[in-house]
Amino acid sequence: MHSTSNQFPTNVREAVLDDQLRLALGRAQTGFVTNRTNAIGALPEFEALRAAAHDVKEHTLAHLDFYLELFEHQATEAGAHVHWAATPEEAREIVLDICRKADARTVTKGKSMVGEEIALNDAMEASGLEVIETDLGEYIIQLSGEPPSHIIAPAIHKTREEIGDLFVRHHAELGFEERTTEAPELVSQARAVLRSEFQRADVGITGANFLVAETGSSVIVTNEGNGDLSNTLPRVHIVTAGIEKVVPSFEDLSTILRLLARSATGQEMSAYTTVSTGPRRQDDQDGPAEFHIVLLDNGRSTMLGGEFRDMLRCIRCGACLNHCPVYNSIGGHAYGWVYPGPMGSVLTPLLLGLDEAHHLPNACTMNGRCEQVCPMSIPLPRMLRALRNREFKRGLGTHRSKLALALWSFAARRPKLYHALSRLAMTTLGWLAGERGAFPWLPLAGGWTSARDLPAPEGETFQARWRRIAGKGR
Ligand code: SF4
Repeated sequence: MHSTSNQFPTNVREAVLDDQLRLALGRAQTGFVTNRTNAIGALPEFEALRAAAHDVKEHTLAHLDFYLELFEHQATEAGAHVHWAATPEEAREIVLDICRKADARTVTKGKSMVGEEIALNDAMEASGLEVIETDLGEYIIQLSGEPPSHIIAPAIHKTREEIGDLFVRHHAELGFEERTTEAPELVSQARAVLRSEFQRADVGITGANFLVAETGSSVIVTNEGNGDLSNTLPRVHIVTAGIEKVVPSFEDLSTILRLLARSATGQEMSAYTTVSTGPRRQDDQDGPAEFHIVLLDNGRSTMLGGEFRDMLRCIRCGACLNHCPVYNSIGGHAYGWVYPGPMGSVLTPLLLGLDEAHHLPNACTMNGRCEQVCPMSIPLPRMLRALRNREFKRGLGTHRSKLALALWSFAARRPKLYHALSRLAMTTLGWLAGERGAFPWLPLAGGWTSARDLPAPEGETFQARWRRIAGKGR
């Protein structure tokens, strides 16, 4: 997927004016948040599980080399082929080579964020393969020629009405001429169309939610069962996964699984949890003849030794996106690459570089909600601040923001001057606002006032109020 993260300000301006996007996001997000709250409320041991999951991942990351080697050994013993890819280019080439050797023409794909990260679809289509996405959300955005906008709900930006129009355009020639906007009918239509694709696919590609070191297994968690059809029906199954997906044992896996669906969709468990260990054995009724696992580094081992190591605990549940006011206002496409929302605002600059994505860490109100809801206790706000520091030190901000920060820093280091300027600004702004009490427009605050009035200061600086309240308390 081509990145437009460096055009973030332009992307945001377009997103906030998109009424369809607001409608779609509004409908979907409320459900995610409410369902998660209910699911966690019904699980008294949630915090204990969260602490245990944190410890499992921290232990694994501290011994990542050991567990990856164990995974490779066990997977190979079970008959799988394990491939190591340092970069997206290497990962793409490995997958294409497997497809070439299998003489493949058609590939079915389950949802894989690593697949998006390495722009796998573009590479496969450029080499003449027919690629069919089988996750419903991924299928919808493949038809509409768009990238995903959410890590667990790729088509969350689309309304049912838009999907109905899309299906009529693409499915009419297959006999589905009547437009529908009913979710069950849309789902069964997609299911009918995709069923035959599974049967003629030569290669099935899935991601992996987890890799279990003790058995060399890959695990996917879905609600549609499409992943199971992608990994059992074709002759060849390829898994693409980041190296941080490994966990030591099935017991560790069960701890984290209890958090994943609750945090993502509010379910106790997703409908399907599928474990793949090696290719089809002699007595098996189905399964692929070949099983390949492509393990991608792409900057992860660098993160392991630095201040962003915590990010490697991420299980891609999407809870931080669902609770982020910025994501809920602009949707995922505005972030310009595979990973949106708070986790994306950390990951994208780390994977693509600050030059490409330095705007993203600033897309945060620092309300801390993302860290509160993160099942893996990832300190996203701290990491966003660290990236802002890096942006500032590298001089990557706009001239206006650099000037504003330099002026603020000059005054903040001189408390008397700072307090005098604050009082002067308060008085002047209060006087200018007059009886209206707000500004419909203000120089340097055009972004704020383009969508709402800016309230005028309330006659007292923060420091003055603090002294007054603290004084009363003595
Ligand atoms: S950062 Fe936390 S909340 Fe966000 S996707 Fe990752 S695990 Fe889920």
